[in-house]
Amino acid sequence: MSDIKGSDGGELRALMARVPSVERVLASAEFAPVVEQYGRTQALATLRTTLDTWRTDAQTGRASIEALSNTMLAHAVNFALAKRAQSSVRSVFNLTGTVLHTNLGRALLPDEAVHAVAHMLTRPANLEFDLRTGARGDRDDLINPLICELTGAEAATVVNNNAAAVLLTLSALASRKEVIVSRGELVEIGGAFRIPDIMSRAGAKLREVGTTNRTHLKDYEESINAKTALLMKVHCSNYAVTGFTKEVTINELAPLAKSHDLPVAVDLGSGTLVDLAQWGLPREATVRETIDAGAQLVTFSGDKLLGGPQAGLIVGSKELIAKIKKHPLKRALRVGKLTLAALEAVLRLYRTPETLADRLTTLRLLTRPADAMRLAAERIQPALQTLAGAAFSVTSEPMFSQIGSGALPVDVLPSYGLVIRLASGKRAGGQMNRIEKMLRELDRPVIGRIADGALWLDLRCLEESDEEMFIAQMKARSEGA
Ligand SMILES: *Cc1c(COP(=O)(O)O)cnc(C)c1O
Repeated sequence: MSDIKGSDGGELRALMARVPSVERVLASAEFAPVVEQYGRTQALATLRTTLDTWRTDAQTGRASIEALSNTMLAHAVNFALAKRAQSSVRSVFNLTGTVLHTNLGRALLPDEAVHAVAHMLTRPANLEFDLRTGARGDRDDLINPLICELTGAEAATVVNNNAAAVLLTLSALASRKEVIVSRGELVEIGGAFRIPDIMSRAGAKLREVGTTNRTHLKDYEESINAKTALLMKVHCSNYAVTGFTKEVTINELAPLAKSHDLPVAVDLGSGTLVDLAQWGLPREATVRETIDAGAQLVTFSGDKLLGGPQAGLIVGSKELIAKIKKHPLKRALRVGKLTLAALEAVLRLYRTPETLADRLTTLRLLTRPADAMRLAAERIQPALQTLAGAAFSVTSEPMFSQIGSGALPVDVLPSYGLVIRLASGKRAGGQMNRIEKMLRELDRPVIGRIADGALWLDLRCLEESDEEMFIAQMKARSEGA
């Protein structure tokens, strides 16, 4: 019954000789279920690595030969294979309070989009085939009429994301030319999207005008020259300039641009299609209003407030969109059929504004009344308190959610959730990190937010259909399952 010690000598060699034959172990009754579930190839390879690890451990005295039964090996191999079989993309519970969380995948899509994508995945479709003429078609044509209907634009095109939309627009219209942008609008969006960088990537020269807080119409006017290609406005997605400020509106800019025969391009960022104020949400200029105000081009994301898949939409005048579509980058940045299918399904929901707040997931989450979250917090509190243990207090409290993804950065939505603090009332970061990690390591990880020495779980994005599973998972963990 002795552990294997030492790195040489007859004793070790003798024990190594007792390492079972891979073939014999694999053929054992204990391995039958593993082989059946994962196939011989994977089971064999994993068994070999398991035995290799054991050999190394035995040589360094970290493993004992007694542990090496077929049952143990089958268990170890099964565990390793199950872990490997787990998808690396995992569903999580987004309790961060940020509805459109870029790191958690932004907008959640409605069932209509799911069905449309499933159809597209499994059947051939008229992606670039004109069913009327039998000739080659344009994938943009499948969705452009709908985009134009909803935005009032003359034409549209869709690319991979809004960063791509801006890059393509600048490449097609302003390469080797100048683009005038206010210093108050030189934004950096998370993940390395910076207006000055995109500008130079596109081969355009940024002409900054005004100051950080104040830009006047004459600043634009004085900067226009023979090399100017565009006057551009960028939505201050993730910050606000407040106090002593002056911004030139599109309404003011448009006549100046027109008198010089220049287009106004607007990077709207989130790009909402409907007035959110009708649901009590903060107001944001819609794409249609931006066009009506005089913008010839508007770019925006598909997976922010629009509530669809990752995409970048460019809408505007026929002439400029045609020019953009001809640029070689368009081919490199175009979207796939799954995106088009999902986007179309989501856009269709906008035709029935009466049911939009119910059917469009993003809007449904944004408009959930705080009372719904408060009742959920009361239902969930006991299970979370049991899981957290006596060292922590779990209380149901009001809090504020945010829209996220650069939409309306300073506006917050009243919400409700659970707050975990140390029962002692002390503020110990280490303990909070421990409980945050425990929730993050559940089967379906729960992602909250640590602030002010507490862990905040905003229940806005936990819909009632998921609540039972959420509680069951915590109970199972408390019971040590
Ligand atoms: C979010 C955002 C972008 C980038 O959009 P993606 O779809 O994430 O590529 C660009 N500009 C503005 C103003 C934004 O808010």
